[in-house]
Amino acid sequence: MPKSQYVDFKSVKTSVTMEQVLQHYGLLEQMKRSGDSLSGCCPLHGGTNSTQFRVSISKNCWNCFSESKCGGNVLDFVAKKERITVHAAATKLCEWFQLPMEDNRTAVASRPPRPWPPPKLPPSSPAITVLKEKPKTEDETANPPLKFRLEHLDVTHPYLTERGLTPETLMDFGLGHCAKGMMAGRIAIPINDPEGKIVAYAGRWPGEPPGDVPKYKLPPGFRKSLELFNLDRATKEPSDMPLVIVEGFFGAMKLYQHGCRKVVALMGSSLSAAQEGLIRKHTAQSSRVVLMLDEDEAGRLGREDIAVRLAKFVFVRIHAFDQESAQPENLTAEQISAALEVL
Ligand SMILES: [Zn+2]
Repeated sequence: MPKSQYVDFKSVKTSVTMEQVLQHYGLLEQMKRSGDSLSGCCPLHGGTNSTQFRVSISKNCWNCFSESKCGGNVLDFVAKKERITVHAAATKLCEWFQLPMEDNRTAVASRPPRPWPPPKLPPSSPAITVLKEKPKTEDETANPPLKFRLEHLDVTHPYLTERGLTPETLMDFGLGHCAKGMMAGRIAIPINDPEGKIVAYAGRWPGEPPGDVPKYKLPPGFRKSLELFNLDRATKEPSDMPLVIVEGFFGAMKLYQHGCRKVVALMGSSLSAAQEGLIRKHTAQSSRVVLMLDEDEAGRLGREDIAVRLAKFVFVRIHAFDQESAQPENLTAEQISAALEVL
């Protein structure tokens, strides 16, 4: 890691919980939970004393009551565990939990502190970060590109075959099953900004998640409302082709795989103002847009609203499915071209 790498220690400390760090190490299950605290054998010094190590969830700090009494925050823990400096620990945490990092050059002078607020994570749901609305500054109009790549993503995971994605599609989109870090146990899907730089990985649980585990996990601080999945590739397609808008990652990837490459996903069933702006920016007047949202309550509500808004500057057509709960992901190549030919 170059010396110039700027890491905001305070943001790292407040964005990542001790629980998440223990979970990252696979240690959370071994801890005993009681009220606000977790306790167990010390992950740093070992031993069999099951009360030697203690975490305060609300204070987000830890203590080891061994002879070499020590304690601290998440950075101190990772630094000790990995035998690295606190700075290196902060960098590692940024990588594991997909927190933005910046170069000194761009971060020091002109910029206000990092836009992402220090989210307080409820102990039971490490996956979801609720962002508080803050007054918009110029710095908040973009998700910063990630300074790392998740490596060794497994493209042979059965879930990917189950969803019908070919090796070519997996390669083009760069997704795969992730073994380590924040997206451990999930399918990591890179999300690019319009320039094609990765700004986040979304983590899809492979299958039906158990209990209250969320199907999708997004990194803290990432605002999906600012991106359209696959926009960077879609804009390279001919301008006279219609732009197809779908809800989800897999719908977009399947249409792409079937040759309909000018497709973007909302990552939901509504269109944010920023997404509307992106479409306006990247489509010529008299362009055509096909709304292909899921055939369910949310999809129908979403497409009515989106159609009205987009019709102000492009030609919009709604593709309605005959069958309730049909999704674009399940269309065959023939059905897709039939749907687009009517235009
Ligand atoms: Zn210890």
